[in-house]
Amino acid sequence: MTMNTQQNHICPECAGRTEQQNITHEHMHGDTIYLVQNVPAWVCVQCGERYLEANVIAALENIVQQATPVKKIETSVYDFAHTDS
Ligand SMILES: [Zn+2]
Repeated sequence: MTMNTQQNHICPECAGRTEQQNITHEHMHGDTIYLVQNVPAWVCVQCGERYLEANVIAALENIVQQATPVKKIETSVYDFAHTDS
């Protein structure tokens, strides 16, 4: 994830065009994953890389610490290197 305050910037990964989309952002804090829906992000149309602006990242921090979640879901965690099969 890269901070960028420019509008209509190009993708630093592949130099592709980015467009603004509302995404579901995964915010990891310690052992907890927070999902925040409808986060405005710049998404590269070529490689799919997502970029959040600095003010959006700051708002996300506030949301996961203070806001009331709209719902809770269970998440299964797997380890690729330690499977039974
Ligand atoms: Zn790209």
